[in-house]
Amino acid sequence: MDEKEKLNVMLFPFLGQGHLIPMGDMARALSVRGVRTTIVTTPLNVPTIRGTIGKNSEIEILSMKFPYVEAGIPEGCENTESVPSPDFIPIFLKATAMLQPQLEHLLLQHPTHCLIASAFYPWASHSAAKFNIPRLVFYGIGVFAMCASECLRLYQPHKDLSSDSDTFVIPHLPGNIQMTRMMLPDYAKTDKYTEMLQAIRESEAASLGVIVNSFYELEQVYADYYEKLQGRRAWYIGPLSLCNQLQEKGKRGKEASVDEGEILKWLDSKKGNTVVYVCFGSIANFSEGQLREIARGLEDWGQEFIWVVRRSHKEWLPEGFERRTEGRGVIIWGWAPQVLILEHQAVGAFVTHCGWNSTLEAVSAGVPMVTWPVSAEQFYNEKLVTELLGIGVPVGVKKWARIVGDSVGSEKLEKALNRIMAGEEAEAIRNRAHKLSQTARTAVECNGSSSSYLTDLIQQLHSIAGLQNSPKSCQ
Ligand code: UDP
Repeated sequence: MDEKEKLNVMLFPFLGQGHLIPMGDMARALSVRGVRTTIVTTPLNVPTIRGTIGKNSEIEILSMKFPYVEAGIPEGCENTESVPSPDFIPIFLKATAMLQPQLEHLLLQHPTHCLIASAFYPWASHSAAKFNIPRLVFYGIGVFAMCASECLRLYQPHKDLSSDSDTFVIPHLPGNIQMTRMMLPDYAKTDKYTEMLQAIRESEAASLGVIVNSFYELEQVYADYYEKLQGRRAWYIGPLSLCNQLQEKGKRGKEASVDEGEILKWLDSKKGNTVVYVCFGSIANFSEGQLREIARGLEDWGQEFIWVVRRSHKEWLPEGFERRTEGRGVIIWGWAPQVLILEHQAVGAFVTHCGWNSTLEAVSAGVPMVTWPVSAEQFYNEKLVTELLGIGVPVGVKKWARIVGDSVGSEKLEKALNRIMAGEEAEAIRNRAHKLSQTARTAVECNGSSSSYLTDLIQQLHSIAGLQNSPKSCQ
């Protein structure tokens, strides 16, 4: 096809693994359909994008300078992972807003037909409008969480409670979802982020619609409800992690801190559904006391595990832990090849912070979850997993916390692991998880729901751009 006749799309992910990775996958999904795709990011985030897009040389990466000096941010703090403390988040968000002139300069230099930008860049809708192109919004979360947030904002059920631990039902949201004020994100409870949230809503209203990393069958009731609630188009094109071929699964995001071959060999030596994988994403950061409780829980439970710990030192580990768990437990210090691990048949459960990407990756792999939400919209995801989909059990976290996490004793972890790994309930959960995994895989195949949404999206963009040729179909 003549390059001039190709649809050009620019992707601008928020600077955190939870957006960089799925938008890298999104670029691949678009590129496979013949769309010329460009990803814009800052220098320290280029390796994550490169790791995620793999060998696809047709995707262009453009880099822009991070405004350290202007924003008063320490050098090297260029994504949510490296934010030194929760107090820094508003400053970090402000710094990302300073990227607007550079983005517009790139839009000028690289004419494009559509801008797909993370929701945390509300100003991207103005930038797209300046160039007379549509903007699509990517929230990086599922549509159940989007609906729950919106119902809370609209109906404020948490305002008139006598205590933080009183339960209330989220009004108008299908499913009779009960929460407490303690579980709500601070942005839903305080005025600190009102301006930002308002800007996000306005920019969504000015956009062509929303791209969701989910599949219609997973959140059908909420996908329908969202369109009714917001009156906005949404395209469900996930799970995006399924666009990875086997040899690329280990390379998503950052460079793994373990040898992939070694970890696979270790997993190969284990029986099916016997290993528990424990990982809390790229941002959650537990205290050493909490890490010790996890160590005790894993040790007392007595079975096989892989535990990812985002620490560079190990003084806090209980004395003799590694010796006592040798052969049955592996600690990965740093970054794990998560999708590769989850998809191994030896893995029987995932202890997760319920980040949306991790949740969807577990769904795709058919792995039951022990849910341990920490921050962001993770308590909503826990409800989806445990109560609506029935593919997980809660560890029993009660309190939302920015980054650090509520404390959970070792006995609670041990109890949840016993519940998810053996017995009748565990078997029913596993069966449901396997079925959902099949549905997820069918969704991304040709004529599956996600593939059809992608076709529809590309066709719409073609027609808005006035391109004459018809887009490449799914193969
Ligand atoms: N991830 C990984 N290895 C790790 C930790 C995380 O590959 O050791 C990936 C994980 O597969 C997911 C992303 O990083 O794609 C984390 O996104 P999520 O939304 O789950 O959580 P966040 O990091 O945004 O809290």
